[in-house]
Order: sequence, then C-alpha cells, then structure tokens
Amino acid sequence: MRLVLVGPPGAGKGTQAKNLSAALAVPHISTGDLFRAHISEQTPLGLEVQEYLDAGELVPDEVTNKMVRERLAEPDAANGFLLDGFPRNVAQADVLGALLASEGHELDAVLEFRIDEEIVVERLLARGRADDKEDVIRHRQQVYRTETAPLLEYYSRIVVTIDAVGDVTEISERALAALRGEK
Ligand code: ADP
Repeated sequence: MRLVLVGPPGAGKGTQAKNLSAALAVPHISTGDLFRAHISEQTPLGLEVQEYLDAGELVPDEVTNKMVRERLAEPDAANGFLLDGFPRNVAQADVLGALLASEGHELDAVLEFRIDEEIVVERLLARGRADDKEDVIRHRQQVYRTETAPLLEYYSRIVVTIDAVGDVTEISERALAALRGEK
C-alpha cells in the first residue's frame, strides 16, 4: 500500500505511523525524522536545514524532494510505503505524483487526521521537542493551514478521514478500519 498521512503538527501522525507501518508491512518514511537525523549527525544537509526546522518553516522543496526521491528509491519502499510529513504542499504533491507515475504507480490513499488546533498546541507544548516553543508551534500550525491543508482538496478522491482524538490503540484501529475499504 502507498499511503500518505496528513494532519496538523501534533495530531499524532508519528505515533500512528509506527503502528500502521507494522500492521500494513510497509516502511514508515518521516521527513521530519530524516531531517532530524541529518541534524544530529551534522551532515551538510543537516546544517542546511536546521534553521528551517528551528523556525517552523518548510525546508525548500528542492532539498526535501531530493531527499524523499532518494529514500523512495531504496528497495524496502518498492512495494509500498507510509509517508509521514510529505508532501506538505501542492508542489511536493505534484513531484510525488510524477515520480510514482513514472514507475506506473499511484497513491492508494491519503489518511487525514482530524483534530482541533487547541488540542494539538497543548500536546506539543507538553512534548517539548527543540521546535516545540509556543511561537514556533503556532507558526507550524499556520503553515499547515495555508500550505498543507489544501492537499485535502487536491487528494479529495482518495482522502480517508479519521477522528484523531482518543486512545492511541483505538485510533490505530480506526485508521485500519477506514483504510480497509481503500486498499
Ligand atoms: P510536526 O508534524 O510536529 O511539524 P515534523 O517532524 O513532521 O513535525 O516536521 C518538523 C519540521 O521538519 C517542519 O516544521 C519542517 O521544518 C520540516 N519538514 C518536515 N517535512 C517537510 C516537508 N515535506 N517539506 C518541508 N519541510 C518539512
């Protein structure tokens, strides 16, 4: 299955991605995790992207698209993947669509995590990652609304929406049930 997760920062995509990736037997590919690994290893890419993560801005598309293209070319992603944090705008979605189409593939579904902005802001303040300061959190929510939320319209034909409030296991079950009809 080729699946994309969409939802505001703090919606629990990373947590659910781990459960879903095990249940669906496809690799979990998180652009945020990939960037953070580069930053902690201080690779040239990490040094280049750090300021964007610190500010809650999107990393420039050329950088992000190249990293994703390389990751998707690895053998474990040949038969499916679960993308978490990509695409994050319509231009990235166009690139992903073209890449998949060039191999005769397409996305099977886009799973939308629906949750109130106030709940996610509270969660992120409690989490306290390096970019979880209130002004940066608010900015990431704004970037989500303006840049990422339009993907729900873009992918309207294949969007599956779930309520992302509740117990972690319960939400995984909701997601799997919602996807079952889409595989
Ligand atoms: P969150 O969902 O809490 O914002 P992520 O780990 O998904 O956390 O993303 C953290 C940061 O990584 C983003 O604020 C952004 O700077 C960068 N990032 C992640 N994915 C992308 C992407 N597809 N395009 C551009 N920047 C990205």
